[in-house]
Amino acid sequence: METRNTIQKQTILMAVKELANHPTAEQVYEKVVEKLPNISRATVYRNLSSMADRGLLHRIGVPGGADHYDHTLETHYHVLCTECGALEDIWLQESQADLLKLANEKSSFSIQNYQLVFHGMCPCCKAKADALNQLH
Ligand SMILES: [Zn+2]
Ligand SMILES: [Zn+2]
Repeated sequence: METRNTIQKQTILMAVKELANHPTAEQVYEKVVEKLPNISRATVYRNLSSMADRGLLHRIGVPGGADHYDHTLETHYHVLCTECGALEDIWLQESQADLLKLANEKSSFSIQNYQLVFHGMCPCCKAKADALNQLH
């Protein structure tokens, strides 16, 4: 039982790495089921969620959309294309610790974490929008 669980966890973690660009739980499931045909969707979702809770993966919440998962644990930020939903990394100098410290100084809450997602247009969607604008 323990062995099966370990294999499932390793396969799920590997799938997130192989998919690379912040897959959703559904995309991870589709990848994992190629290797473990008997695994259930619920098992994949549950494992992703618990691995994120334990800090083995990062979970990126997208308002109105499915959560994305990231195997890159170093502090970085994300930009979401509001047209097609593409999600990419942004590496900034400001450290997460500094932002957390600032937020804690300004708030009476004890803040442990935060989510920050920039919104914009990916180069592909921007090119399409520019081309459309030129027609008018
Ligand atoms: Zn886009
Ligand atoms: Zn990322």
